[in-house]
Formats: sequence, structure tokens, C-alpha cells
Amino acid sequence: AVPVADAPAPVATHCPYCALQCGMDLTPAADQRAGRASLPVTVTPRQFPTNGGGLCQKGWTSATVLRAPDRLTTPLVRGAGGELVPASWDAALDLVAGRLSALAAEHGPETVAVFGGGGLTNEKAYTLGKFARAVLRTPNIDYNGRFCMSSAAAAGNRAFGLDRGLPFPVTDLAGADAILLLGSNVAETMPPFVQHLAGARSAGGLVVVDPRRSATARLADGGQGIHLQPVPGTDLVVLLALLHVLLAERLVDRAYLDARTSGSDDVARSVAAWWPERAETVCGVPAEELRRVARLLAAASPSRGGRGAYVLTGRGVEQSAQGTATVTAAINVALALGLVGRVGSGYGCLTGQGNGQGGREHGQKCDQLPGYRRIDDPAARAHVAAVWGVDPATLPGPGVPAVALLTSLGTPGGPRALLVHGSNVVVSAPNADRVRERLAALDLLVVCDVVPSETALLADVVLPTTQWAEEEGTMTNLEGRVIRRRRAAGPPGEARSELWILAELARRLGSDVALGTDPAAVFDELARASAGGVADYSGLSHARLDAHEAAGGEGLYWPCPATHADTSCDGGHPGTPRVFLERFATPDGRARMVAVDHAGPSDDVRPDAPVHLVTGRVLQHYQSGAQTHRVPELERLVPEPYVELHPLLGLRVGVGDGALARLTSARGVIEATARWTDAVRPDTVFMPFHWSGAGSVNRLTTDAVDPVSAMPEFKVCAVAVTPAAEP
Ligand code: SF4
Repeated sequence: AVPVADAPAPVATHCPYCALQCGMDLTPAADQRAGRASLPVTVTPRQFPTNGGGLCQKGWTSATVLRAPDRLTTPLVRGAGGELVPASWDAALDLVAGRLSALAAEHGPETVAVFGGGGLTNEKAYTLGKFARAVLRTPNIDYNGRFCMSSAAAAGNRAFGLDRGLPFPVTDLAGADAILLLGSNVAETMPPFVQHLAGARSAGGLVVVDPRRSATARLADGGQGIHLQPVPGTDLVVLLALLHVLLAERLVDRAYLDARTSGSDDVARSVAAWWPERAETVCGVPAEELRRVARLLAAASPSRGGRGAYVLTGRGVEQSAQGTATVTAAINVALALGLVGRVGSGYGCLTGQGNGQGGREHGQKCDQLPGYRRIDDPAARAHVAAVWGVDPATLPGPGVPAVALLTSLGTPGGPRALLVHGSNVVVSAPNADRVRERLAALDLLVVCDVVPSETALLADVVLPTTQWAEEEGTMTNLEGRVIRRRRAAGPPGEARSELWILAELARRLGSDVALGTDPAAVFDELARASAGGVADYSGLSHARLDAHEAAGGEGLYWPCPATHADTSCDGGHPGTPRVFLERFATPDGRARMVAVDHAGPSDDVRPDAPVHLVTGRVLQHYQSGAQTHRVPELERLVPEPYVELHPLLGLRVGVGDGALARLTSARGVIEATARWTDAVRPDTVFMPFHWSGAGSVNRLTTDAVDPVSAMPEFKVCAVAVTPAAEP
């Protein structure tokens, strides 16, 4: 037993999973020798504004992944017999650098592509972007945040000139009378978030829009709100009808529209034809329900004496070929009610991945440089090139977004090598069989990960990385709050940080571009690179964040510039919990309202595929499940994929409750156990997407993308549902 006086002190950090970034303490075990069966840390929840002291099952069990039995502890190289075999770091890195050099010499620098992740720390995301642009000089970099946040980011940038998921602290939600929540199942994806809905629920004002009666939709039961259950792919019509009612019944905040927005007349004309009875024929939501919701939102709005109202969007409406248009319509509703840029009301997007916000600010996106700057902006290129010590003319231009990048792999003229960091694309990307084909066509696939994910198992070289509790760094949560991730345990075996891996590769590639390996120093460089950008971190550092926290603070929100008249917080800028209060980040300071219209899903139902398929998440698993499938407590609860279908549909197609169903789309065929439930519409089936193999639903989803954001349409496609053949 360890004497109490010698017990290690808890380390304050945050959950490795979603963007709520719940606070947790990690108490290091007395003996952290690598390879021990016992876990190196104990997790306990920590009071933090986003979680209020709570954790979900994923967070509670997150330490298990640190010692997963198949945790990668040494580099692996595919041997002559086709097996992945252990190798030394020198051998693996020399092999990767040699093959990258040879491919680039033969085909040009753009033959190497990089795919990043929304779970990487800010420091890693920044370094990955710098490695791609300044070391490899390839334009071909994008990341899995394209599958997560891109539609909301595109709509937010267009409307407000700035994309910060929640432009206000999440705790502000508690004071609202009404919250319109579109396409988000927070009760399962981020359960502690539900506490922030309590105010609206007690006021009877929680409105959930979801084609499925999810756990979140059920929060609106018992007089606490309203659940609207539209036909999949028609959320946009719901929003167009809501705005129609607000205008027709003169419920909009005219003074706000005149003072703070542009484009409202165009938008008003564009919704004139979407009267509720017409909308009902498309989206299936009764016209009177649409009117009721519009009036409820208006009554909660400050301009009509309410305590406040929010419009929030999630992946359900964003992962659509009309995702940017749908989020734009949600923003238009919020602007029409005068909610945005007002304390106690607003519009926000619920970011999904742990660092989905920071991941898109520091240069992983194909069209952006650090500071959320456009890569085609000459001033931005000059600024970032100066920080990197390179000639701006040597920086590549924009690349192509994730789906186009993955589709181009191994094609004539397309990339012949791919480096994947923290992403499991053969499970999480749409049209997954095609992704697998494209990876197989590469000359070189290198995967950096903590476990042998399905994508890692296809690689030529696998490089083992540190994770979460084994590293220092920062994350930026769904509120734009920059928080510290802290090391509480040593990594097992020879796992190394991506910062070290990228620096070593750069050196072996003969680059004279310096890549840092100390997270605090990398953050300082990131902060300099972001200075003057919309996501300005220049007033932040690890030391400042630590000191702020030691004094009772809870992270600092960007923008937090170094050079500013306001030095009211520790002698520095206090950060910006709420943006848009004075003006929007557009050239004229006004929010832009943009007219949009409904086009329908890219892969709509038809006689040979008459059922809508929608996909989503379960409480126990996270994303592709690479981590949570390795947690026995979670795996026991939901061990396999399943398909939810309405009993009426089950009877019609001959698939009983508990039977094996076959789902066929234009992309593939999968099978899963049927669960009868009236939570889904009779024209719709639902499947979670956390699995690979025969029940991998992304083998069915379409890789059609939104024309503005390049977000793939994960959330709806057309399938045929039949009984699986007898074995
Ligand atoms: Fe919190 Fe999300 Fe982690 Fe659950 S997964 S504990 S909601 S951060």
C-alpha cells in the first residue's frame, strides 16, 4: 500500500472524447511501469462549467484505453509475408522518409497526402498543417472534421464572418425559455450537456427536431417541450416554414433586423411560398405544430419579453448535401428573432469531436492556415510564412476536401502516399468500401494511432502514438474555450508523440523547417501564427492557462489577442466568452442573411430503395469505436450493430424483431439485427455507425457532398430492407 503522504496528486485534465471536454482528475497509480495490467490512472469527475461535475460512461471508463491489450507499443512495418511486424523507430521512420522522398521526386510533392483528426491537440493539428505545407509542400491535407463541423462552419463564416461553435458560454443556455435543438442527440452523445437544457424544459420550451424519437427527443415529453419528427432530409423545410410563420404573424424583431443584419428582405421573399400547410406535405410535420413552435420561440425572445431563446444545430442537420443551407436557415430564424449577439440568446452549433473546434483553426483544413486564415489570402500566407521561416511563394495553395481527397487516392494524377493521423477512415468515411479500395491503390499508407484501428491494419507502416493522459497540450472545446490537457502517465512501450514523429520525419526528409517537439513551445509558435486572425490565440500560453486555472479560472476563450487595450485578466486580455455583442465579424459589422431553398436528399427513396436510412450514435461508443470497443464495460452493453425499424415496416418487409435484416443501398449491402421500435417513422430505419465489417453502415451511406462545405451526406440515403438470407 502507498502511504497517504506519498500518494500522487491528481492531475486536472479533460476527457479524451467529445467536444464538451468534461473536467476530470487523473490520479496516477503509484507504479506506472509500462506494460502493467493495472491502469496507470484513476478517473474522477471534476467540476467544470460544461459538465457540472458529471461524466458519461465513456468518460468514466476512458482510462481503460491507456492499457488496451492490443495497444500499439512499437512501430510496425509490413513484412515480405504481408504481415505487420515490429520494427525499430529508426527503421520505420527511415523507410517512410525514403519512400516519401522517392515518390515526391518521381511524381511531385502533391503525391503525398495527409489526413488529420479532430481529436488531435491544437499543438498536433498545427504541426501537422505546417508539416504538410512547409515540409512536404503538398496542398493535399484535410481532416475528419470535414465530416463533423464543416457545414456549420461554412454557414457561420458566411453569416457572421467567424465560426465559433457556441459563440457564448454553454452555461448561458440555462436561462433560456426556449431552445430549438435540430439534429442533435445530446442525451447520448454528451449526456452532461442535458443539464443545460433544464431551464428550457421547465419552461416547456425544449423543441427537438429529429426524424427519430431519440433519448434527447424524449426529454421534451411530459409537457417539457415539443418533438418534431420530419421526414429524413427535410429539416430545411421545417426551418423555412418556421420563418414563414414568424414573418406572416409579424413575430420577427424588426428593429434588430434593421440595425444588425443585411439580406432580410431577400430571405423574406424566399420563404413566402413555404406556408405551413405546404411544408407539411414535404416534411410531414403538422402545420399546426410548425405554427406552435414558431410562436413558442417568439414568446421566449427578448424582443417580446421572454427570458431568451437559442437555436442549436448538430450533425443530424449538418451532415447533409444541403447542410450549409439548412444551418443558414437555422441562423436566419435566430436572426429574425433578434437572438444572435445578445446575452441570454443566440445561435450555436454543438461541435462533436474533442478538438473539433481547435482542429479547424490551426491549419488542418485544405483551404486554411493557422488563425483560421484563408490559404489563398496573400497577407495570411506572408504572415504564416514569416512565422515558419519560409518563403510564402513555396507554400502550396488550397487542396481538396476530405471526400475528394480520399476518392483521388491512387488514381492517375492523384496522391500515391497517405499519412493518417488519429482517424479511422475505413469506418468513419462515407461509402466506406470505396475508401478501402482507394487505400489499397496507394503505394504507401502510413497510420499514426494508439490502437490497431481498421485503417491501421491496412497500412504499410503503423506508428504508435501517445494519447490523452500521456501528453501535454491544449484543446479548444465546443465553446471556443482553450483548455489544458495534462500528462498523468507515461506511454507504454515505445509509443511517441506525433510532435516527435513529425519532427523526425522532417529531419529525415532533409527539410530545414524546424518542427518543435515541446508542446508549450509549439503552442507559443501557434499563438504567433494565429495573431491577427479571427481565431487569435496570441495572448495565450500554457503558462498563462496554468496560472489562470491555479487562480480559479476555467480556460480562456478566443479571440484572446496579445496586443489589446484590455489587460484586465492576469495583466492580459480576458478572452472573449461572448462574441458578436457589438458587431459581427463581417466587413460592415452586420450579420448576412442568405436566402436558401430545399432541394431534397441526393439519394432519395425510390421503388428499388423505398426506405430512408438515418445514422447516428449510441451512448456507449464514440465515433468509429476504435477506443470504446476496447472498453469491456461499454462493449458488453452494446456489443454489435443493430437496425431500428418500425413494427409496421417490419411486418411489411417480413423482418421480425430480433431477426437479421439486410439493408441494400446503391453502394453496398450489410446485415444487422433488427430492433422493432416506434421511435422511428414507418418510412425510416436507423443504424448507429460505430462498427466495421458486415454491419458497417457507412458501407451504405452516400459520398455526395454539400456544394459549399463539402460535407458528405451521412445522415440520409435510400435503402431496401429485406430479411437476410438463411445461412
Ligand atoms: Fe463528457 Fe463527452 Fe467525455 Fe462523455 S464523452 S465524459 S460527455 S467529454
